[in-house]
Amino acid sequence: MDKKQQIRQWWAEADSIVILGHVHPDGDCVGSCLGLWNYLKKIRPEAEVQVRLENCPAEFAFLPGADRISFDFSEEKAYDLCMCLDAGDALRLGDAVRYLKSASRSICLDHHVTNKGFCDINVVEPHASSTSEVLAEYLDPEQMNKDIADCLYLGIIHDTGVFKYDCTSEKTMCLAGRLISLGVDTRQMIDDTFYRKSFVQNRLMGAALLKARLLCGGRMIASFLSAAEFRQYEATPADTEGIVAQLKLTAGTEVAMFLYETAPGLYKISLRSESVVDVSRIAAQYGGGGHVRASGGRFEGDPEEVIAQVAEAVSLQL
Ligand code: 5GP
Ligand code: MN
Repeated sequence: MDKKQQIRQWWAEADSIVILGHVHPDGDCVGSCLGLWNYLKKIRPEAEVQVRLENCPAEFAFLPGADRISFDFSEEKAYDLCMCLDAGDALRLGDAVRYLKSASRSICLDHHVTNKGFCDINVVEPHASSTSEVLAEYLDPEQMNKDIADCLYLGIIHDTGVFKYDCTSEKTMCLAGRLISLGVDTRQMIDDTFYRKSFVQNRLMGAALLKARLLCGGRMIASFLSAAEFRQYEATPADTEGIVAQLKLTAGTEVAMFLYETAPGLYKISLRSESVVDVSRIAAQYGGGGHVRASGGRFEGDPEEVIAQVAEAVSLQL
């Protein structure tokens, strides 16, 4: 039996299924989880299917099923099957990892090059644009509908920067076309979920741009925001989406780095590169990972020291 048959069989056999994504859920995480939820609700109406995530950013709350997501990881429960989506390793599941540990069976669907496989069945396709694209391969085309299409389309536009990044392939575009034919309102979804920013988000972006500096002779741009600055702008980590991508648009840069403080002395790092530097290797040095052109991690220590270390690592790769 091949992987597709095996996965479909496990979906058919499980009476209770939990769907997990990564901490700080993004568009692909929420989109793939809800795409699978809508699909499983359709093919297994009698089964218990539950998405559990840390939170759901407000701009994704319109997706069908978003109001049924559980944000509670305290309930003790053992599911027949645990689906892990868009998470490169078990740590990325955060406290939801307990549902992976207690489940009888587990399946991982992902596209992170740093994913070594942490479930019973692992489907990791580093060349896929998104986990939503990986997932689409496993769904029966006959069972697709607009609800599922909305979720998957959202995942794809967020992980491809609206079909811009190199990960966008012919396969991605063919899938997107198929989803559009199911009725996705593409213009509105792209504007409302990708480009539109709240006042707070725009001010935070402005602060990050003002504080940016060039390193590596102009090939790298870096910016850092402290917890005090987040308080000043009444912003939260959920308001940082798009900042590192905007930094990366600076002419002449190969690498963009955005750092911010998540708790006293704890920092989140985001890295993007243009065409040469493998930022997943750099992120791995900070317990993180991701993709060759987009990676992240977290560390405890001195942000200035880390900026200098990353600049050094970038120089070596250039
Ligand atoms: P971002 O910078 O937007 O948080 O993340 C960029 C990419 O790197 C995403 O695909 C994300 O899943 C991955 N990533 C971000 N932070 C981490 C981390 O701490 N560990 C791992 N393994 N991947 C991460
Ligand atoms: Mn993804």
